[in-house]
Amino acid sequence: MTTHQRNISASIDPVKLDRLAEVAVRVGLQLQPGQDLFLTAPVAALPLVRRIAEHAYKAGAGLVTPILSDEQVTLARYRHAPDASFDRAPTWLYDGVAKAFSANTARLAIVGDNPMLLSGEDPAKVARANKANSIAYQPALEKIAGFDINWNIIAFPGASWAKLVFPGDEEDVAVAKLADAIFAASRVDLDDPVAAWAAHNAALRSRTEWLNGQRFHALHFTGPGTDLVVGLADGHEWQGGASTAKNGVTCNANIPTEEVFTTPHARRVDGHVSSTKPLSYQGTLIDNIAVRFEEGRIVEAKASKGEAVLNKVLDTDEGSRRLGEVALVPHSSPISKSGLLFFNTLFDENAACHIALGQCYSKCFVDGTSLTPEQIAAQGGNKSLIHIDWMIGSGEIDIDGVHADGRRVPVFRKGEWA
Ligand code: ZN
Ligand code: ZN
Repeated sequence: MTTHQRNISASIDPVKLDRLAEVAVRVGLQLQPGQDLFLTAPVAALPLVRRIAEHAYKAGAGLVTPILSDEQVTLARYRHAPDASFDRAPTWLYDGVAKAFSANTARLAIVGDNPMLLSGEDPAKVARANKANSIAYQPALEKIAGFDINWNIIAFPGASWAKLVFPGDEEDVAVAKLADAIFAASRVDLDDPVAAWAAHNAALRSRTEWLNGQRFHALHFTGPGTDLVVGLADGHEWQGGASTAKNGVTCNANIPTEEVFTTPHARRVDGHVSSTKPLSYQGTLIDNIAVRFEEGRIVEAKASKGEAVLNKVLDTDEGSRRLGEVALVPHSSPISKSGLLFFNTLFDENAACHIALGQCYSKCFVDGTSLTPEQIAAQGGNKSLIHIDWMIGSGEIDIDGVHADGRRVPVFRKGEWA
């Protein structure tokens, strides 16, 4: 067992792993001197957690508090817990997390578990557990969605995740390949990743400035299986790359990130749209999604795989049938070019244009951080317990920006910026 573990961590380049930790602290979080940090990670990511703690304290962190999760512990619940367990969540913990966010604690999430971990478990139990968790997490999630504090998500190449992405390889080879893919997408394969991120943020900013200058009323997506008009919320603002949280810290919430995104109008989306990549949703693969919208609401939903789970998700609450995000990513993005399906939204959403069902981001409104939830709703912002991104972009998608007077401007042609 020890030899085995040594092999796995030996297949991850320690220099690049250290750079990833540095990028998470200095770019992803811009952790401030004296600021506390709350982080969650799979146990496999412990080598990265330790490096992050080191960089965080060097940056002046007050207190770093990690919580680790384990795939076997998660599975033990599904296999052995009493039925009533699946309507429960550690509310006491999430209340504490919300309290910490209110006290300006930064948040880091390291993803790396097997995305298909729960695929063999009872879908009803999975749905109940997710719902209980979403409800308990809501007070903390509102502070993340409202961008009260600087937060960041990065990835670590867990062994079972690596085997899913590279099924034909031995475990240590798969981990090495996934590590390289994560490092490249996170720009830590370059000698000066912090400078590379500054340049990348500037490039994304030039896109958002153009889109914000246009002030489109709607975007019209056309492509195979897709003819969709996505109305944009009143006073929407495009975001991409680094942005500034309510606590004044400018951070990169997602690493990697290639998208520019904004808030659709929850009541002005019409037409039909097909997914272009499978969606891995909490252990279930949902493939070939085809939905139809009327006045912002999904009135028809099909999938070739995982349709029951999709329909359960859509029934979560009133907002789960409406859009909370629309995002543009060129087909030539580095993650798209890798040709890999990561089974993980953090990566796959940066390979293609996408839309998200559910909760909107208040930061995607002009002066969004000072708007009340009622004002956001009045301007077309959606509210839900869920936020699920799925890919609708490809090399065949065209997008027109539509002005209020009907004037059209090409935005994307054949999957690339026009
Ligand atoms: Zn997105
Ligand atoms: Zn999203």
